[in-house]
Amino acid sequence: MTTPRVLLVEDEPGLQLTLSDRLSAEGYAVDIASDGPGALAQVQSRSYDTILLDVMLPDIDGFEVARSLRAQGMATPILMLTARSQVTDRVTGLSLGADDYLTKPFDVRELLARIEALRRPAPRQAWAVAEQYQFGDVVVDLRRAELTRGGTALDLSAKEFQLLRYFIEHRGATLSREALLQDVWGYTASSSTRTIDVHVA
Ligand code: CA
Repeated sequence: MTTPRVLLVEDEPGLQLTLSDRLSAEGYAVDIASDGPGALAQVQSRSYDTILLDVMLPDIDGFEVARSLRAQGMATPILMLTARSQVTDRVTGLSLGADDYLTKPFDVRELLARIEALRRPAPRQAWAVAEQYQFGDVVVDLRRAELTRGGTALDLSAKEFQLLRYFIEHRGATLSREALLQDVWGYTASSSTRTIDVHVA
């Protein structure tokens, strides 16, 4: 089994040290970038299993870094770390291509659970579903993970698409936040159930 490699993009030396020590102890290889340009350069030079991306960076912020990575076609899961707690910031981060977010200060165990959840592919249903699903002028191509509305392609993050797939597979059913967290994110309910509200929004 190869060692999972994480890129930590964080400008605070204290947090760099704390998180990299803890992640290393948990068996991750950790690279650190202190700013946006450094992160973009690192991602060019090697592949990562997960990118931990602080929003508040000295020059270009984490949102911009996420946008650049996705614009380059980078599919690596991005977990945004934000000191802000406003829902608008979360929505911004997720709409720019982040897969999940965590508000500082956070428990390191929570961070580890999120990283693991992002690394695991979402559980698939055993029963087959149609490869295409249509409602109104929206067409969802499940096999190619593409979404179009009126023939125009729409961008969704990986998690948003998994969530959409889950809704399609369970259409007509009432789904609890706990079930969504468990089945789509792969972790059990915690204080962070706002994740679901934000993705659904
Ligand atoms: Ca920072």
